[in-house]
Amino acid sequence: MESNGGTRHEYEIRISKRAKYLRLQINELQQVTVVVPLGVSRHQINQFIDSKREWIALTQKKFASHTREQKPLQFSIPTTLELQAVNKTLTVCPIAVSTHVSSIKILDDNIVLVSYPPDEMQFAINLLKKLVKRLAQVHLTELVAKLSEKHQLHPERVIIRTQKSKWGSYSTTGTLSLNSKLMFLPAEFVELIVLHELAHIKHLNHSPQFWEFLTYLLPNARSLNRNLKHVSSLVPVWMHT
Ligand SMILES: [Zn+2]
Repeated sequence: MESNGGTRHEYEIRISKRAKYLRLQINELQQVTVVVPLGVSRHQINQFIDSKREWIALTQKKFASHTREQKPLQFSIPTTLELQAVNKTLTVCPIAVSTHVSSIKILDDNIVLVSYPPDEMQFAINLLKKLVKRLAQVHLTELVAKLSEKHQLHPERVIIRTQKSKWGSYSTTGTLSLNSKLMFLPAEFVELIVLHELAHIKHLNHSPQFWEFLTYLLPNARSLNRNLKHVSSLVPVWMHT
């Protein structure tokens, strides 16, 4: 604990074998951690912290206002990822770092640690989008494999992309592509989209025969399809940035 002209700055020191430079981290509780490479003296640490006082104060203020006010969604980091497709909620813990390096990792208990420079919110958003895509890659590929096997409809390849608006597509060359945003939809809608694209293996258009076949694969396909536009709003705004 350091005291300085009435304002007290508490911080924790973490020695890191991997760190090359001194750096600061501030989490959403405004707790400050100094990451210290091996061989750095106490004096150097103090000098470093002194040089970062302004940054610390500014970043803590940002976190304070971020938690107090309800800012427009597109300007803030989400607190959770509601991945309804897999019935999972991930809790997002943002950590501000003083370097231009951002990183993301999933801990046990579905906690996502995302570190980013506080002025570069989009860094964190981009990492979260990549994480969703990575999870989609695993889940959607498995789901396609399962449903392909069940209905004997085998695409040549499956690709997962973060597309603007299309949920999925099937090309004449046999590529089934799916949108990573599907991770935010309830499982029955994800199944609808996957079966819709698999049905295109037999019928490349949206003819009555196509719908008949899709209804055979999934009896409530039409009613799910009608409700699809309502569940679209479950995809968070930041996924579209
Ligand atoms: Zn279609």
